[in-house]
Amino acid sequence: MQRIDKHTGVLNVECNQCHQVHTVTVKLEDFDRYINKGDLVQKVWPTYDTWDRELIIGYRTGFYQCKLCFEKEEIEVQKVSFDEMMNQIKGDQE
Ligand SMILES: [Zn+2]
Repeated sequence: MQRIDKHTGVLNVECNQCHQVHTVTVKLEDFDRYINKGDLVQKVWPTYDTWDRELIIGYRTGFYQCKLCFEKEEIEVQKVSFDEMMNQIKGDQE
């Protein structure tokens, strides 16, 4: 964590897949609630978007996949299941 001032810090989290570093700014007080008091990320940062929250979770767990990689994987998964589906159809016909 990089400290900006007495109350604020920046978390740098590297995407496990593309290794790009993403950042999110948090209040230290909020971060403490999450890390030390076990509050849920949704409860501590209700206004943050999903990807900012994923960053915070990733900082804690060490697993983080950025939005781009996540979406790329989604597409690949869809492609694979489409191919599998076509193979099944072909298989049924033989
Ligand atoms: Zn990535």
